[in-house]
Amino acid sequence: SKPSYKWQRVLLKVSGEALAGDHTQNIDPKVAIVVGGGNIFRGASAAGNSGLDRSSADYIGMLATVMNAIFLQATMESIGIPTRVQTAFRMSEVAEPYIRRRAVRHLEKGRVVIFAAGTGNPFFTTDTAAALRCAEKVVLKATNVDGVYDDNPRRNPNARLLDTLTYQEVTSKDLSVMDMTAITLCQENNIPVVVFNLNQPGNIAKAIQGERVGTLIGG
Ligand code: UDP
Repeated sequence: SKPSYKWQRVLLKVSGEALAGDHTQNIDPKVAIVVGGGNIFRGASAAGNSGLDRSSADYIGMLATVMNAIFLQATMESIGIPTRVQTAFRMSEVAEPYIRRRAVRHLEKGRVVIFAAGTGNPFFTTDTAAALRCAEKVVLKATNVDGVYDDNPRRNPNARLLDTLTYQEVTSKDLSVMDMTAITLCQENNIPVVVFNLNQPGNIAKAIQGERVGTLIGG
């Protein structure tokens, strides 16, 4: 039998590339979303190619996440879900600044909070922002694959999808789930991480409601 979890509050991490659109329905727990920007701009790959220094490239990447956040906000509100966007650096004509207690208040009022601009610092990723903003309960990482495999499924057709994993296994086997900063932050704070496929209809709702989907990383 599959264990069932009832999260009280969840942090959904949506990568930029996954922002192709899906429906979110019957949201009952409190939901915060950290949005990525990789579909528009990725600092690490842009730097170097163009002679752009890494931190400038990363600031452009963070601005890309703000574009995605506003897009996501407009889309969610068009289907009747109230949202607030909070940014890690101030853009006060566009969105609220990140104020943790205020974010919690929005959640209590039934608004979905969308966190943009990552951590606000170059050299980090939005996965780390997800771990940082979460600091309790659970990180739900919505991706384009079904979960974590024991090998690269693109190269190895026999790669197996893993049901559960420990933090230790993720770091020691170098499974590319999240960057090390993000995964160790989750480990230190005992934040479980669920990696699941966003493209499968109904998966977001399942993950949010604590039904088992994808791979669960914990313990
Ligand atoms: N970024 C950053 N600091 C952060 C978060 C993001 O500098 O705290 C930049 C970085 O350049 C990154 C880009 O923003 O490549 C987009 O974020 P990310 O790659 O995490 O997006 P995703 O892969 O989730 O789409």
